[in-house]
Amino acid sequence: MVPDIKPDDIKAVTDVLQTGMLIQGKQVALFEQDVARYLNVKHAIAISNGTATLHLALIAAGIGQGHEVIVPALSYVATANVVELVGATPVFVDIDLQTFNIDVSKIESAITPKTKAIIPVHEFGLLANMELLMPIAIKHNLIVIEDAACALAASVGCQFAGTFGTLGSFSFHPRKAITSGEGGMLITNDDALEKKLRVLRNHGIQMEDGKMQFVAAGFNYRLTDFQAALVHSQFKRLPQILAYKQTLAQAYLCALQHCKNIMLPIIPNGYYHTWQSFHIIIEGIQRDEVIMRLQDVGIGTNYGAQCIPQQKYYQYKYKLNTATLFPNALKAYQQGLVLPLYEKLSVADIQHVATALLKIVG
Ligand SMILES: *Cc1c(COP(=O)(O)O)cnc(C)c1O
Repeated sequence: MVPDIKPDDIKAVTDVLQTGMLIQGKQVALFEQDVARYLNVKHAIAISNGTATLHLALIAAGIGQGHEVIVPALSYVATANVVELVGATPVFVDIDLQTFNIDVSKIESAITPKTKAIIPVHEFGLLANMELLMPIAIKHNLIVIEDAACALAASVGCQFAGTFGTLGSFSFHPRKAITSGEGGMLITNDDALEKKLRVLRNHGIQMEDGKMQFVAAGFNYRLTDFQAALVHSQFKRLPQILAYKQTLAQAYLCALQHCKNIMLPIIPNGYYHTWQSFHIIIEGIQRDEVIMRLQDVGIGTNYGAQCIPQQKYYQYKYKLNTATLFPNALKAYQQGLVLPLYEKLSVADIQHVATALLKIVG
């Protein structure tokens, strides 16, 4: 994954650098306004990265000691780490192997009197089944914090990722569609939460009668103005970036459609996949061998996401039998492969990768 930084993006940054105003200011506010307008939500709050976003969301939502939070067993570890960091307990639910998202039919049996929230992840740029998930959350009075780190502008019907739950979280890490180096964004329609988030982001500072009051033990989770300018400049061409990624993904889907040892990603009807990652399942040959043999011909690939309860920290603490409890997450972790897909590649590059892969996988 190589971010495509254009001359305009660089100019946006140097323009800010020349003003000497570097920390959170006008550029951050402008970027927040544009994201809120685009996603059709009341508030967007820029944050220093896509893990701090989730951490702050949990704190603002009042989640902590004694609470349980439902998270998918397959995601980037940050999704569960933040639950640990606020002193709550992550309760893992297996994924659906067709979409790689949380298996909504398994959520209700994971709910206990201690459950306070669900963090659905829109894995690899495809929305989780929020149409089925939200009624469960509402029925059990659970807060929904969407980890949409990979899913800016992903949608189903007319609704965007991040806008179904109480809070939506995005990341602008260089591996995502648009980047500020490090960066993130929270969105919400809740006025009280927005106010809390802005206070907690900035050392607990609240302005009262023109005076700075320290009303909470807050963080410094601010984005800088030059980071905001960098990501805002790319955000303006997001539709073109996503359209191009569709073209590349389509090229993979066509080139690999007849291989019986490759399980291709599935896009449910009405869903718009943003192709953060083109993630496939490899059968009949060890995935790691495929990675090595592709590396031998100069093609860099990697696995997609972690089976989180399988990672050392979680194994040591919770000792869950992942093979029986989360077979799908384990399979995706062990047999999943992400193929290169980013703006700097051409359709010919994609066909070259597909040909090399078919030679190995057969
Ligand atoms: C990238 C990512 C994060 C973390 O975002 P950072 O900005 O790197 O901290 C969290 N969750 C998911 C699903 C991600 O893909």
